[in-house]
Amino acid sequence: MDIVSLFNKLNDKQREAVVAKDSHVLVLAGAGSGKTRVLTHRVIWLKMIKNYSSSSIMAVTFTNKASLEMKSRINALIGDFSKGMWIGTFHGFAYCLLRSHYLDSNLPKNFQIIDRNDQICLLTKSIRYLGLDEKKWQPNSAVCFISDKKNKSSLFPNVDGRSSKSEITWLNIYKVYQNMCDRAGLVDFDELLCRLYNLLLNNPAILAYYRNKFVNILVDEFQDTNKMQYNCLYLLLGEKSNVMIVGDDDQSIYSWRGAQVDNIYRFISDFSSTRIIRLEQNYRSTNNILQTANTLISYNQNRIAKKLWSTEGKGKTVSLYRAVNELDEAYFVINCIKAWQQKGGLLNNCAILYRSNIQSLVLERVLLHSKIPYKIWGGSIRFFERQEIKNMFAYLRLIINKSDDVAYERILNVPPRGIGKRTLDLVRNISITDQLTLWESTKNLLNNTKLKTRIFRVLQDFITLINFLSEEIEQLSLFDQIDLVIKETGLFCFYKQMQGSKSTLCIESFKEILDAAHRFDQNYENRSDNISVLRDFVSYYLLENDKDYRSSELFSDLDSVNLMTLHASKGLEFSQVFIVGMEEGIFPSQMSLLGEKQVEEERRLAYVGITRAMHSLTISYAENRFIYGKAIICKVSRFINELPKECISNVFFSN
Ligand code: ATP
Ligand code: MG
Repeated sequence: MDIVSLFNKLNDKQREAVVAKDSHVLVLAGAGSGKTRVLTHRVIWLKMIKNYSSSSIMAVTFTNKASLEMKSRINALIGDFSKGMWIGTFHGFAYCLLRSHYLDSNLPKNFQIIDRNDQICLLTKSIRYLGLDEKKWQPNSAVCFISDKKNKSSLFPNVDGRSSKSEITWLNIYKVYQNMCDRAGLVDFDELLCRLYNLLLNNPAILAYYRNKFVNILVDEFQDTNKMQYNCLYLLLGEKSNVMIVGDDDQSIYSWRGAQVDNIYRFISDFSSTRIIRLEQNYRSTNNILQTANTLISYNQNRIAKKLWSTEGKGKTVSLYRAVNELDEAYFVINCIKAWQQKGGLLNNCAILYRSNIQSLVLERVLLHSKIPYKIWGGSIRFFERQEIKNMFAYLRLIINKSDDVAYERILNVPPRGIGKRTLDLVRNISITDQLTLWESTKNLLNNTKLKTRIFRVLQDFITLINFLSEEIEQLSLFDQIDLVIKETGLFCFYKQMQGSKSTLCIESFKEILDAAHRFDQNYENRSDNISVLRDFVSYYLLENDKDYRSSELFSDLDSVNLMTLHASKGLEFSQVFIVGMEEGIFPSQMSLLGEKQVEEERRLAYVGITRAMHSLTISYAENRFIYGKAIICKVSRFINELPKECISNVFFSN
């Protein structure tokens, strides 16, 4: 491998960043200027020139899709180079460390991660337990409240004289919820980071070990880290550490999840020796696209001004299409894609971006009708969120961890075994009065209470089934474990006998999960016993589900159009980009119309979308739209009026 020619493909500023001798480097630059490129080259430089071992390198980014992109970019430069390095997300990193140090993290060995749906389920229980009105104290709001608190501090907040009555109630809900999680060995996503922080903070030996191990830390998309992620990173940096962070304040689009763009300034003030390198040349887009993005973002008041330029030439003007309605818009976009394909273009190079997942429905309908293959990245019904898959995973979770009440409730009567709400309430009551898990409560109920023979039998059968599976799987490979669970629980037969295409789809899902299990098993490195493989497989699917996509031809690898939200498009690039639904209330979204700060965040999101385009960008809006079950007359987005007229052409037909 010729490292000189590799480094010749960097501009001076990029090279300066890649080979910087400083231990703290911040690359602050606009979209498409090669930040990720710098980061990947720095990884190669650290290993090839500075002779650091692969295991000393930790590269963190925001989503799993972005981390895959990073890995594949490194491997494209030098084949299989990323092996042995830790490349992933903060959450993935937290999960690994908590698994290795579960005792020091006050967790049971078989702890499991829960997603938002599971959180809602536990919070509904907590709110009911406290006898509160669910309409006033909604589980959805409780999720946001708890997430916000956990993002700010790893400790349960104190109630003091300044706490309002409603704050105290929310905190009570939080407390009950947290007790339930702790008792059942369940960890939500924010809790992963809080526990990681506490683990590192309270265990000097563990902290010293990881400081020593990960001497080289690189963070992409730094503008979207939240406070807790920053705190963990701060702890991990020791005297010998080399850290490179790269980011762009104009692309901070996750403040609603607690991300703090101020972390960039905090880093500079915490590490005053930080070398700041700015990149100004954009390599991705032609100038019409770049100028469109630059002009739009200049309407934001709170930003670090940047000048981005490109030598790519002016390129095509940005197309603007006014559609009669959402169907007209979808046909227009898809006809443009067809025309591109007829000229020999690949569908893989096309992306349709939208503000909210619901907008994908009409696009999907028209793509199906036009017989164009597509992939929906992170769509609303992700693979993992399908009922049959959630049910199958709930069985696996209960087998691994009998305290997992969420899993228990989910599958007690799936497939239907004649256990009604009354029986479940009986179990729940024991669990509340005796402070037991649902599993233990069921066993107590069977031992101590006179139950109707039929109820006794079905509950007993359920316990026997789970115990039987727990024993059997210890001897089996991951594939066989899952195969056994799908069959013995009756899930396979239950879905097979369903009517029509639903049955085929469910059976296909099971096949897919078995294939995935096989692949996972082959690549698994930390094998201690068969249960540990299963445990990590279950968590992997929760942690990594944003890598997932749903495609037109189930799980096909065909050349296909990419559909995704603007949020999901961060860090990616496509030759042909279409941004649809540029209307007030859609983009900027309804929620953002509340204040200028939120509108600025939406504008940054538009900036992210526009800068994904390399050669062609088409923006569209509709005069009328049927959405959320209502027909609405739309007003064109304020962002369209902010685009530079000289870079835009109104178009009336696809070509
Ligand atoms: P974003 O802000 O969207 O994440 P980025 O700053 O990370 O963008 P990259 O994705 O690293 O930018 O680079 C954008 C594109 O420009 C990529 O296709 C990359 O290969 C290309 N590129 C970057 N630097 C150079 C260079 N010096 N020579 C040629 N191409 C380059
Ligand atoms: Mg990038």
